[in-house]
Amino acid sequence: MIGKHYIQQGTLQEALVLIVDDEPINAMVVADLLSNLYQTKVVHSGEEALAFCRQQTPDLILLDVMMPGISGLETCRAIKNNQSLQHIPVIFITSVKSQNDENKCWEAGGVDFVNKPVNGITLLNRVKAHLTLKMQSDFLRRMSFTDGLTGLYNRHLLEEVLTKSILQSKRTQSPLSLFMLDIDWFKLFNDSYGHLSGDQCLIAVSKVLKEVLHRPVDMSFRYGGEEFLCLLPDTDSLGAQHIAKTILQKVADLNIPHESSPYGIVSLSIGIYSSTVHNECFKANEVIRSADKALYLAKQKGRNQFVC
Ligand SMILES: [Mg+2]
Repeated sequence: MIGKHYIQQGTLQEALVLIVDDEPINAMVVADLLSNLYQTKVVHSGEEALAFCRQQTPDLILLDVMMPGISGLETCRAIKNNQSLQHIPVIFITSVKSQNDENKCWEAGGVDFVNKPVNGITLLNRVKAHLTLKMQSDFLRRMSFTDGLTGLYNRHLLEEVLTKSILQSKRTQSPLSLFMLDIDWFKLFNDSYGHLSGDQCLIAVSKVLKEVLHRPVDMSFRYGGEEFLCLLPDTDSLGAQHIAKTILQKVADLNIPHESSPYGIVSLSIGIYSSTVHNECFKANEVIRSADKALYLAKQKGRNQFVC
């Protein structure tokens, strides 16, 4: 039922290539060669390149080595030291010829280089080869940790992340909350409206979770068929209940008809586990079990509600 087609590999035409050269004419030549095939952006210094990367993530960077201000090598090092940018392949454009200068490019983290004056065919082929690899590895990374239908994380990642969060919360003496969520009478929903509508419903609920849990530390997982799990670091029981209430309200606002539900629309049941700093129950599987127990109670009490 989970369609592989929902996550697609990015196409090369969508790829964004950042061209960095202090000499406008050089940058223009390179941009002219590439702009029919890819999205391109030209900047003229290392500083501008780093500033651009803070706004938008290019898929590949063509980087001049010799520039006033931050050199190409330093720019590359800064990119490779930044966790959210280090996956971007950097190709140096260089007129340096000595083995020592070449070594410095590799050491800075470049994947390849192109000599000046630029041979157009060589440049096009190097760029194409590295972009293709980049697209494939992005795709694999997304596939292995995300659920194909909803785009939420899948359970492969859950245990590792949860264990880390528990350790972190112990170390910083901060609370941690975990939600286990279930779409009410989902099997009956599928029976009434078909699996395609079921998929649409899962996507809509996932969107609500992404919207409501918008802090970078929050994470939502698709746990099973219609079961979701949300991890909220640094959130105590009161905060968690407030968020659960918001989720229930937003799902009600979706107003998705559900004829087999006494509520007439799609709703959720939520089980909440919230740790306090004194709490001893502190292993990933125990935390999940506690939230699951609370979820069971929420269902027993008539669903469309949360239990903490
Ligand atoms: Mg230069």
